[in-house]
Amino acid sequence: MSLKERDKRHLWHPLTQHKIHPDALPIVRAEGALLFDDQGKEYIDGIASWYTAMYGHCNPYIIEKVNKQMRTLDQIVFAGFTHEPAIHLSEELIKILPDNQEKIFFSDNGSTANEVGIKMALQYHFNKGEKRNTIIAFNDGFHGDTFGAMSASGLSVYNGPFEDFFIDVQRIPTPNEENFENVIEELLEIITIYDVAAFIYEPLVQGANAMHMFEARYLNEILQICAANNIITIADEVMTGFGKTGKNFASEYIETKPDIISLSKALTAGFVPMAVTSCTQEIYNAFLDDSVGKAFFHAHTYSANPIACSVAIAGIELLSSVEIQQKIDRIIKSHQSFDTKIKSHAKVKTTRQKGVIYALDLHVEMDRYGKKRFEIFDHFMQKGVCLRPLGKTIYILPPYVITQDQLDTIYRAIVDLLDIV
Ligand SMILES: *Cc1c(COP(=O)(O)O)cnc(C)c1O
Repeated sequence: MSLKERDKRHLWHPLTQHKIHPDALPIVRAEGALLFDDQGKEYIDGIASWYTAMYGHCNPYIIEKVNKQMRTLDQIVFAGFTHEPAIHLSEELIKILPDNQEKIFFSDNGSTANEVGIKMALQYHFNKGEKRNTIIAFNDGFHGDTFGAMSASGLSVYNGPFEDFFIDVQRIPTPNEENFENVIEELLEIITIYDVAAFIYEPLVQGANAMHMFEARYLNEILQICAANNIITIADEVMTGFGKTGKNFASEYIETKPDIISLSKALTAGFVPMAVTSCTQEIYNAFLDDSVGKAFFHAHTYSANPIACSVAIAGIELLSSVEIQQKIDRIIKSHQSFDTKIKSHAKVKTTRQKGVIYALDLHVEMDRYGKKRFEIFDHFMQKGVCLRPLGKTIYILPPYVITQDQLDTIYRAIVDLLDIV
């Protein structure tokens, strides 16, 4: 039986309507920026497997470090025990995170990183004797699939069935030049009506919202208002973290720093799942008390798994290397010159770029999950390029190790698409 047939016997895939969705494609191997399917065909991973494998698939440097860690210490309960990989990782993260971040809390994925951030913010106020229940979020944000994270995300087919069970969230539009004053007015009104505990946001680039980008100065003003009202700010850098915006973290572009930062995806370079929620000393201090009840009683069995920590340490070493930083610069420049060539094409409505993230909107009518989206996906796969269009948005977020030839192949596949779409 083929892999495709065996897949269909017992597997249930994410984000998939199995009645109409094409068969899942078996991938048997990956290396650098390349994926290989069961027929031996290769594809350039233009989205770094959902922004994880930034240093290349099966990166040999990381493999070496993990191998050593696997033979030394695999797993230990992180309540009451500690270990070198977690300590070392916390030190490395604090070195590169915005200056106000002091404490590192571990969980398993981007959704739980945000869940932890939301719970920290709610309990921060609770511990200080204040009942603050409302979370503010952007209309079109995405923060994950657990209940808190899903509640704070924009409404769509994905969370619609659960709306009755959401935590209390008030949504404001993502700011732009035209709506900015109204957004601020709405924000101030929400603050007067509700007891607001926290504001959660994706800084500068909203990944799931078709790579929508917005300016730092608007976000900065919102963050200042939050700070003035003792509203805890949570930067969801699950997508933007670890160099993708051209700086280690998107929050570095914004003057006002968040109280809490969520990290995952590239944190563990595509090897294993892990997440981190960092926070300020001020947040941490609100949980210090002689009473046990004020502690943060949130735990995942695999918190700070030593193997995952060793991957993350190796990942940060690579990120900080001259070699990777040069590669990031090259991708940024390469995207810019592609953009000048393509932005006035009749089939291109708009383009945008932040760091290695490049996106263009097609000048074509189509639904986000419609048939045309699959046709475009197929076009790219036939050209040996793995890109996953978000509705009419085509975006590239390549592994930093992608070669110029591979990048040019992606650009060519996009240009070809414009001729036929
Ligand atoms: C992917 C993503 C999440 C969810 O992370 P998972 O690991 O899929 O749970 C949350 N926020 C942002 C911005 C993301 O891109």
